[in-house]
Amino acid sequence: MAKLLVIAEHRDGKLSVATLELCRVAKEIAPALGLEPAAAVFAKDDSIAKEVANYIPEVFVVADPAVAVYTADGYTQAAKAVVEAKDVKGVLIPHTYDGVDYAAKVAMAINAGIVSNVNKVVVEGGKPVCTRNIYNGKLQETKTISTDKFVISIEKGAYDPAEAGAAGSVTAVSASFGPIRTKVKEVVSTSTGGVDISQAKIIVSGGRGLKDADKYKATVIPLAQKLGGEYAGSRPVIDSGWTEPSRQVGQSGKTVTPDLYLALGISGAVQHVAGMKGSKCIVAINKDPEAPIFNIATYGIVADLFEVVPALMEKL
Ligand SMILES: Cc1cc2nc3c(=O)[nH]c(=O)nc-3n(C[C@H](O)[C@H](O)[C@H](O)COP(=O)(O)OP(=O)(O)OC[C@H]3O[C@@H](n4cnc5c(N)ncnc54)[C@H](O)[C@@H]3O)c2cc1C
Repeated sequence: MAKLLVIAEHRDGKLSVATLELCRVAKEIAPALGLEPAAAVFAKDDSIAKEVANYIPEVFVVADPAVAVYTADGYTQAAKAVVEAKDVKGVLIPHTYDGVDYAAKVAMAINAGIVSNVNKVVVEGGKPVCTRNIYNGKLQETKTISTDKFVISIEKGAYDPAEAGAAGSVTAVSASFGPIRTKVKEVVSTSTGGVDISQAKIIVSGGRGLKDADKYKATVIPLAQKLGGEYAGSRPVIDSGWTEPSRQVGQSGKTVTPDLYLALGISGAVQHVAGMKGSKCIVAINKDPEAPIFNIATYGIVADLFEVVPALMEKL
């Protein structure tokens, strides 16, 4: 049977959560498309492939020095090899920095239609129907892909990760690589404190409503620590130096999908919301009842945060 293929993302020997989210999507929609769910891993060896096989029944691995580190050319050529060798009709790619870089190249290479930055896929009439945000999240659009082959890039956090099950098979696929036009010379971590807020389950995030660095530090950080979570901020908080850049949430910062996102004195500008709207539960405290953050908040508290947070700390 033809395949619906997830392309795995990994770095430094670690599999991304986004890959597991796509495994869930593949298993959910493959039957209605008449396809079998599978994944492909491009790496120096098959260790990551064995890990992915816990989440999806079949894994193809291109183990080659050409894909030991990510490059768009390397991944595109490896993807084409698997698509051709294994009768792949659909490809799912995480909509991450790497995914944005190479998804359209894969679509070109395999002559497929593509919809990117998707947050929901269903199947109607045997075709994938993709929903995605446009105009910075102000509108949503739905697109059906009618080409024989398709590529879909899916936003991080749009789906829960697949649960591990019985180990699937791992099969090697060989690829002959042409020129790879970029060379990774060095990978530099931008994280100053070693904190990756994108993996946090609880985030307390502060905005300009905190007024200054001292109040941010005295309000947001203790509450985050009390809840066993991470602290973060909107862009003005970062630009003003109240906390480090790796903790910025939003379009030009990190995308986060915690179980709880507590927004303190954040108005809810589209650029901020773009980075946290996938949170499972959003609690907003803002003294302006018209603040746009209340449009997406699960719970909204219209009040002065400097009254609510001390009361909350006392209760906790
Ligand atoms: C290209 C581009 C990229 C951007 N990227 C990002 C990004 O990645 N992340 C990001 O956050 N922004 C980003 N921005 C900026 C964004 O447009 C907003 O300016 C920013 O998110 C606003 O931050 P804020 O909510 O903290 O501040 P404000 O919009 O000033 O909101 C402060 C809020 O605090 C409330 N408040 C004040 N005092 C209190 C109090 N005592 N108690 C309770 N509430 C109170 C006010 O009612 C107000 O709603 C970007 C902008 C551009 C143009």
